[in-house]
Amino acid sequence: MGLAGSRPDERGATVAIRATIWNEYVHERRDAPVAKIYPNGIHVTLGEALREHLGDEVEIRYATLDQPCHGLTTEVLEQTDVLLWWGHVAHRDVSDEVVADVVERVRAGMGFIPLHSALKSKPFLTLMGTTCRINYRHDERELLWTVNPGHPIAQGIPHPVIIPEQEMYGEFFDIPAPDELVFISSFSGGEVFRSGCCFRRGSGRIFYFSPGHETNPVYHQPEIRRIIANAVRWACPDEAVPEQRYGHAPAGWFETS
Ligand code: ZN
Repeated sequence: MGLAGSRPDERGATVAIRATIWNEYVHERRDAPVAKIYPNGIHVTLGEALREHLGDEVEIRYATLDQPCHGLTTEVLEQTDVLLWWGHVAHRDVSDEVVADVVERVRAGMGFIPLHSALKSKPFLTLMGTTCRINYRHDERELLWTVNPGHPIAQGIPHPVIIPEQEMYGEFFDIPAPDELVFISSFSGGEVFRSGCCFRRGSGRIFYFSPGHETNPVYHQPEIRRIIANAVRWACPDEAVPEQRYGHAPAGWFETS
């Protein structure tokens, strides 16, 4: 357990952030151009990015679609402070039971970072309550502009970040208005997109970040790696959320119990 971490435990001691990186892990095993960019899977590259920027501040666990419970058992989720999620072609193969557990954990305080095409993942769709539909087109230059320079996720990030080749995601992006917007993107074809959006659902913090198309080496780019590491720090719950009282409340219950 790293002492340099930033998550306080129940007694206020500082312990490492427990990050679980979930990847459907289909393209990398099926499509040669993707395997060339991410030979060990997108999840491992993301893990390396977290290690690079957070060092001992983070404990990393990997989970993939093909594992029992997709690697996300109740036990794993209970031991996760921040869940990162990359999915694209296999959204429908994710079990509704696992999705319900993920959503419940987010509402109870677990951070959630859906990346790129995870905008159509079941947990994100459930947490947003909208279609999350977009326009898209391949192989454009993306400029990522910071619109909230004081935000913790924007710390140390140049303005703009130039991504030489990336899939264009364009508005309208059918999401609820974000609680905080950190980045917007513009593309060589002219479209704009809300590319870095913060939401709160229950006690959980959510950061949707759009760069990361599988045939472009976006997760090898230093500024993108820093943004994702910053987001893990931001999304980690500050402290355990205390149990709340719910239900019928007889008059004066707070005086007698
Ligand atoms: Zn894509």
